[in-house]
Amino acid sequence: MIDRIRNGGVVGAGGAGFPTHIKLDNKVDTVIANGVECEPLLANDKYLMTHHARDIIEGLLLAQQQTGADRAVLAIKEKYTAVEDKLEVILQEVGVDLFLMPDYYPAGDELEIIYEVTNRIVPAGGIPVQAGVLVQNVETLFNSARAVNDEPVTHRFLTVNGAVEEGAVVRAPIGISCREVLNQLYPGKSFDGLTVTTGGVMMGAIHRDFDFPVTKTTGALLLLPEHHTVVLQKSRRIRNVVQQAMAYCTQCTKCSDACPRDMLGHTVKPHLSMRRVASGLNYEGQPSINAYACSECGICDLYACPMGLYPRRVNRELKEIMRGQDVPFEIQQKEYRVHPLRESAKIPSYNLKKKLQLLDYDREVTRFEDLKAKEVTIPLKQHIGAAAKCVVKAGQKVEKGERIGEIRENEIGSTIHASISGRVKEITGAAVRIVA
Ligand code: SF4
Ligand code: SF4
Repeated sequence: MIDRIRNGGVVGAGGAGFPTHIKLDNKVDTVIANGVECEPLLANDKYLMTHHARDIIEGLLLAQQQTGADRAVLAIKEKYTAVEDKLEVILQEVGVDLFLMPDYYPAGDELEIIYEVTNRIVPAGGIPVQAGVLVQNVETLFNSARAVNDEPVTHRFLTVNGAVEEGAVVRAPIGISCREVLNQLYPGKSFDGLTVTTGGVMMGAIHRDFDFPVTKTTGALLLLPEHHTVVLQKSRRIRNVVQQAMAYCTQCTKCSDACPRDMLGHTVKPHLSMRRVASGLNYEGQPSINAYACSECGICDLYACPMGLYPRRVNRELKEIMRGQDVPFEIQQKEYRVHPLRESAKIPSYNLKKKLQLLDYDREVTRFEDLKAKEVTIPLKQHIGAAAKCVVKAGQKVEKGERIGEIRENEIGSTIHASISGRVKEITGAAVRIVA
């Protein structure tokens, strides 16, 4: 099973793309399917659970079998009542528990789900298997089930939403450009003055050039105007971020009071990171656990800080500096206690969307499109670990699903496949371009 999932190029679809075959090579007592897409405006996990539940459940049962887990759980948002109605009976038949997560941000975070479902806390610096749990996104499970049946990962389900006339969930060939996705969905429309955020508005990256390719980890393309509050905040240069931290942070601690990791007992105090840069962005002496244990969920800077400052950006920079100096992030072994105010500190999704001025774009997404591409540019690194080794040559014919990149011996990585049939037009160091 693990070999097939490795050969199928399955990586974590809900995060940074950790290779699934490595994650599955562990023993745990609980496996959880994560269908709790908590970033605003996303709808692809809901679509998958509504239309491809059998593959997801098959993937979950395979993960349960592989890891030896006693318990398998599908976690969804409690507001997904139609999904609940549809799946309740089938889940009972196969012995999978359904867990309804409250609609707050960041309910889809692995550590939040693990605590809600099992009451266990993954230690800071640790990984879920150390708490006896494996969490996999529903699209990862869908891809695992397909890979075990010899269908490699060639497509990605993603949400297109935001400042467009109608939101959509699409199934897109990997390597298709963002511009081509938008042109096929909204022919003749101009996207001048708009930016696109990949992933979600809270944790995703902002792009102004639309020619980047869709990869295995592109969960969404969210269009927002240049002047939108989220775009302005995320576009701030780090120099300004630090200067503003030095000038305006009042040390009111509202960022720390709202931090979900701190609420789980991880001792992430973003106000202390802000204090740390009071004399400029530098790192000396003790490692800053505040920064390393930060999940970069964005609550402190996009929601909590009354001064509009950026503790998350400061934490990210501190992490970079510490990594550059080879400062290790060791597992923090201690007795973890959940903050007594955790429940009341949860941020309802509605409040977050309101604060971020996203309510105008918050609509039911009912459109689905299965996109085709005449040309794709497939990156050889779409995952955590080393880039795949290219195994095709320019001019060579390839079939959809054929292997074009392989994992090198003894490396962490993922196999890459052609997402369309055609001819390899060009190979750069980092990507393979195929023309149908
Ligand atoms: S909420 Fe803002 S002003 Fe208050 S401590 Fe945090 S960063 Fe400083
Ligand atoms: S981004 Fe801010 S709120 Fe989120 S975990 Fe990091 S410090 Fe806490």
